[in-house]
Amino acid sequence: MTVFVSGANGFIAQHIVKLLLEQNYKVIGSARTQDKCETLIRQFDNNRNLSMVVVPDLSKVDAFDSVFKQYGKNITVVLHTASPFRFNVTDVEKELLIPACNGTLGILESIKKYAADKVERVVITSSFGSILDPSKMADKSFVFDETMWNPFTWESCQNDPVIGYCASKKFAEQKAWEFLEENKDSVKFKLVTVNPVHVFGPHVFDSDIRDTMNCSTEVANQFLKNGPNFEVNPNTRNQFIDVRDVAEAHMYAFQKENTSGKRLVLCCGDFNQQDIVNVINADFPSMKGKIPVGKPENAIFGKHTGAIVDCSKTKEILGYEFIDFKKTIDDTVEQLLKVRGQL
Ligand code: NDP
Repeated sequence: MTVFVSGANGFIAQHIVKLLLEQNYKVIGSARTQDKCETLIRQFDNNRNLSMVVVPDLSKVDAFDSVFKQYGKNITVVLHTASPFRFNVTDVEKELLIPACNGTLGILESIKKYAADKVERVVITSSFGSILDPSKMADKSFVFDETMWNPFTWESCQNDPVIGYCASKKFAEQKAWEFLEENKDSVKFKLVTVNPVHVFGPHVFDSDIRDTMNCSTEVANQFLKNGPNFEVNPNTRNQFIDVRDVAEAHMYAFQKENTSGKRLVLCCGDFNQQDIVNVINADFPSMKGKIPVGKPENAIFGKHTGAIVDCSKTKEILGYEFIDFKKTIDDTVEQLLKVRGQL
């Protein structure tokens, strides 16, 4: 069986590709440049089940046409992970909204044009950001679940990259569900979305470790590189899930019948910056005195300090235990320190 993975060189996608290859699927991945394609093939030891194609820009609505024109007859599953995930943008519409929306709509249109009778399952990596309403976060009685959408409009999200990112994930995901509704007689695939909260965890390859990491990993990395006086802000409540659980959810999303038509919300609890430094200080003696201590009592993991993200339905569907906060931070930090010779 052949699986197409868009943005295959991404942090989450590399873990998905790893699982796919381990389970003997044939994988066609996309990345933005030939260089990125060749790097990934090398990183996966020239595995003969992995091939790569260049898709330079998601903003172009026909970006995936050539892929599905050429390979569509063989592709049974599509995992669409590619989407801009960064906050250093100056033009929210151009850099976040349009590539996210056109990328999602574009890949579905390409499937319809060239592989309507072949693709059986499409899994879209959406985000808890498509659900999050920041005005409710402090309300301890509020419960977020997979039936909800964030309140942002195309207009209201233009001046804030974080809100712009959340909006991009909502609009893109909604376009996918609408596309399926409008085209249910002309395509055969079933749709699943994976909606993770903040994703931590190690990278598949040590060779991807840099001084400044991707948005996900930088949240922990900043405490390793900015010295003991770096501020630990306790007002940074967020939710986490391990990247290996996110990758596994993508596998279940196309392998299991009971995921069809579902939004899989992935969350394993709350954390703030203090939780991160508490774990690093407790588990990495080599970093004592080199990273901040903050106020250990300000940690929130395991406490009920705000709105709850209820992913009980997803847990029931997936049926596996999520990796806990200590392990996900330990594994993330261990890799960063090992590569830098600081363990
Ligand atoms: P990465 O940035 O590592 O991966 C994103 C992928 O999308 C990369 O391959 C990137 O290419 C590609 N991409 C981004 N913008 C474009 C564009 N305009 N044209 C073509 N390709 C593009 O991020 P993650 O692995 O963390 O994220 C993967 C998915 O998961 C995204 O959809 C993200 O929204 C979602 N997500 C991530 C969370 C997290 O905490 N990490 C939480 C919830 C959802 P390139 O490498 O060249 O930039």
